[in-house]
Amino acid sequence: MSDRPIIYFDHNATTRVAPEVLAAMQPFFERLWGNPSSAYGFGRAVTSHLDEAREKVAALIHAEPREIVFTSCGTESNNTAIASALRVAPEKRHVVTTAVEHSANLAFGRDLERRGHEVTFLPVQPDGSLDLGRLQQALRPDTALCSVMLANNETGVLFPVAEIAALCRSHGVPFHTDAVQAAGKLKVDVGEIGCDMLSLSAHKLHAPKGIGLLYVRRRCRFHPYILGGHQERGRRGGTENVPYIVGFGRAAELAQARLRDRPGQVRALRDRLENGLQQAVPGVHRNGGTQPRLPNTANLAFDGVEAEAMLLLLDRLGLCASSGSACTTGALEPSHVLSAMGLEPMRARGSIRFSLGPDNTDAEVDYALQHIPEVVRNLRAISPLAPGPAERPAADP
Ligand SMILES: *Cc1c(COP(=O)(O)O)cnc(C)c1O
Repeated sequence: MSDRPIIYFDHNATTRVAPEVLAAMQPFFERLWGNPSSAYGFGRAVTSHLDEAREKVAALIHAEPREIVFTSCGTESNNTAIASALRVAPEKRHVVTTAVEHSANLAFGRDLERRGHEVTFLPVQPDGSLDLGRLQQALRPDTALCSVMLANNETGVLFPVAEIAALCRSHGVPFHTDAVQAAGKLKVDVGEIGCDMLSLSAHKLHAPKGIGLLYVRRRCRFHPYILGGHQERGRRGGTENVPYIVGFGRAAELAQARLRDRPGQVRALRDRLENGLQQAVPGVHRNGGTQPRLPNTANLAFDGVEAEAMLLLLDRLGLCASSGSACTTGALEPSHVLSAMGLEPMRARGSIRFSLGPDNTDAEVDYALQHIPEVVRNLRAISPLAPGPAERPAADP
């Protein structure tokens, strides 16, 4: 790797820890490293900082501090929500979720099936949207939980979670939403959504990896997933990860300020990148682009291009982006999200996700617009997927 600065367009994968967040965490490694459960003042001195962080993350989602359960990550939050719903209603054996959730839900759901539960993975339409009629039909008297994400990490498509929560309520089914991608990018208000539980992960909003939370609405029946001490009001065992919780709180505060003071900043950059690429290169399609979606995400299908090859060339230019596909045993699996939308495997395999963030600049988008069209032209020139030999210029030596 060269030491040229990278241009980071992969904020849906993770984000840089903001300097303010790191600064807020520092004292909790150096000076305030006691255990908040201790009987002596040195440990208890930490408690007020935990409380403050809890207030800050609660404010980001318009919840009450007592409704926040800190976890180790978004994955744990999602697993906990589903496991809890099944545990508090053991007579109910059915869970509803969607085919386009994060693997946190998909893998847990498949494991539930192996253990004799029934899981409905709702399909999506070609535009990435959910058929709410179908969702309603899937809700049964023995449904323990409906878990539907707020914003899709690959396409940015938003699901109408307030409507879904209302449907669930009218069927007496608890509702959980994975809001990991929405937090910090959109206003998230648990009251407006009407959810019983909601997951967040700190590393998607400029705090470190390895800390998340589960919002559990007051009076929502709950059973812990990690059993141990009585931390988190008995809802999650394990000594509190104090520095990370403090960092999460600071990041939530910064995210809220950004949403208030600089709304539309990231959207403008994303739109310029997306429109610019579509104008400069023929055969570029927006996946999920007609639906309400996150302001930072562009998922583009490039005809006649293999995403993996394109990502390598972008990497050489210092551009970080991603494809939803996972390379397992040499076989490229197209993204499960794009497949669920019914994209042809070829188009799914030619799709790239650009996800922007508040640190990105106009100059970075200019650089991308200057170089990406040529990358696409070069790849098409040598691609067996390209339209036809007649249109194919001679390959570079
Ligand atoms: C990243 C992500 C998660 C997982 O969060 P971790 O903290 O990495 O476990 C869950 N859901 C969505 C939608 C995500 O984007």
